[in-house]
Amino acid sequence: MLRFACQPGCTRCCEQRGWVWLSENDVSKAAAFLGLEQADFEARYVVRTARRIRLRKPRAKQCHFLDEGAGCSIHPAKPTQCRLFPFWPELVENRNAWKGTATYCPGIGKGPLIQIGAALEIDDEMHNAYPEQYPVPNRNKNLPPGKNSSA
Ligand code: SF4
Ligand code: SF4
Repeated sequence: MLRFACQPGCTRCCEQRGWVWLSENDVSKAAAFLGLEQADFEARYVVRTARRIRLRKPRAKQCHFLDEGAGCSIHPAKPTQCRLFPFWPELVENRNAWKGTATYCPGIGKGPLIQIGAALEIDDEMHNAYPEQYPVPNRNKNLPPGKNSSA
């Protein structure tokens, strides 16, 4: 079982180096939340590669939408990986990676106990949102630890 409760006012996960990956649904939700046409939103904030979509990263910080002192400025429409952190496959499926993430996420180890089955159901949402990155849930495989990868 895992214990987790996001801590009010904390933005530590948003400050970590790494990409924010997007599903198609993430793109349309965030664009709608900001009142932008999807094409305008993408031109300003999104990078598409052959197989994947991610937020563009500004020079001085990790994310355009991180407002110092106020948190995520698109909170109701934040991307799937942000909404589900720390229940990412590479963390939920790897005990050492989960413990390692506690070095910067103060919510790990606090709050109610979460059954591993419930944690894996949340983790499945990551597999569904990012099938190129997490193609096949393999509950017996120890994935290497790491942020949602390669910044
Ligand atoms: S680092 Fe952990 S506690 Fe802080 S905002 Fe992210 S999930 Fe919540
Ligand atoms: S989109 Fe919001 S939650 Fe995700 S990294 Fe940026 S500021 Fe943080």
